[in-house]
Amino acid sequence: MKPIGPIPPAFAAQNGALAIGGQDATALVAAHGSPLFVYDAALVTAQVARFRRAMPAGVDLHYAIKANPLPALLARVAPLVDGLDVASAGELARALAVKPGAAISFAGPGKRDDELDAAVAAGATINLESAGEAQRALAAGERQGVRPRLAVRVNPDLELRGSGMKMGGRASPFGVDAERAAALVRDVIAGGAEWRGFHIFAGSQALDAGALIETQEATIALAARLADEAGAVPPLVNLGGGFGVPYFAGDAALDVEAVGAALGAALATRGDVLHDSRFAIELGRWLVAEAGVYLTRVVDVKDSRGETFVVVDGGLHHQLAASGNFGTVVRRNYPLAVAARMGTAAAGEASVVGCLCTPLDRLGDRVALPPVAPGEVIAIFLAGAYGATASPAEFLGHPAPGEIVV
Ligand SMILES: *Cc1c(COP(=O)(O)O)cnc(C)c1O
Repeated sequence: MKPIGPIPPAFAAQNGALAIGGQDATALVAAHGSPLFVYDAALVTAQVARFRRAMPAGVDLHYAIKANPLPALLARVAPLVDGLDVASAGELARALAVKPGAAISFAGPGKRDDELDAAVAAGATINLESAGEAQRALAAGERQGVRPRLAVRVNPDLELRGSGMKMGGRASPFGVDAERAAALVRDVIAGGAEWRGFHIFAGSQALDAGALIETQEATIALAARLADEAGAVPPLVNLGGGFGVPYFAGDAALDVEAVGAALGAALATRGDVLHDSRFAIELGRWLVAEAGVYLTRVVDVKDSRGETFVVVDGGLHHQLAASGNFGTVVRRNYPLAVAARMGTAAAGEASVVGCLCTPLDRLGDRVALPPVAPGEVIAIFLAGAYGATASPAEFLGHPAPGEIVV
């Protein structure tokens, strides 16, 4: 038997039939088909409210839409946040469609000229990833006869300890090395751009408040040092994000209130050069991961050499991360349940496998499960971020999943 990750608090206390946003999960599948991603908008709203309560004044919240760009969800999130962070012209178009006039920032290596043109035309802030990109962004501004809004993304000389995905402290395709950042700021200002400030993203999926606090303190100090060096006040310092969610057994939720309190203290003593700067935190998964559940119907239950396999009609083509093939080194089980039997004691051990013809397609490996029969629904939690759009949907030619917001 192998453990599963913690079921998110909003669902963990349920007994009997799983409800999402007050609606019965099995009935949702009957109405909308299987497999189905269901996102509970009220849970996202609650996360935003928790962030606002925990963080000091003067700290904006941005949503990194690559975590979940579903238009129906984006339409619910966009009015609640201060900015939208996009990573392609496609995401930029989605952001503009739900919130014309939104404060948008655009990060990511390899922005094409047509993407820079679209960002300049939209008045978005371009987080520059290199000196070459700065020249191309300035040229885009000249083509359109407008001052482009440019921020310098810094590859910091620090990294987020315990982060699931390290983004700083080493050679990187992301951002401009800290030691070259001030010179680039001076160049873009001299080139006629409206300089918007710094973007410093040091890592992702951190659960350790102490590590995040250290990183934020170091990031504020770095921004002050670079601003002094550049001789310019950054209107905005984007501190990155990195707030994680507990996916696996033994993971504990991030103490966001501790992070907020420490950030308040760090900002109170920030360098003079940052006195008039605003600050932002950009979050993806922390806002939306726990709000999503992936529902998939059982097609077959079979025994093989003493092991039970519950075969479902979904799989890694929709929820790659739950199979352990997206951003993890060791495969561990996401939290899952039989949707009609929340809180029921396990009857035995089974592996939940997807319908793809590859042994990689395993959504639950030797987990404790209550009895389950074909036609019933399995719920896989933490499906709100990096699910549908971060999975190889075309692989093996199965239908796309449904996605609904409740
Ligand atoms: C992906 C990304 C994020 C969001 O990361 P999460 O772990 O989903 O919060 C934030 N900022 C940048 C620059 C990113 O590339």
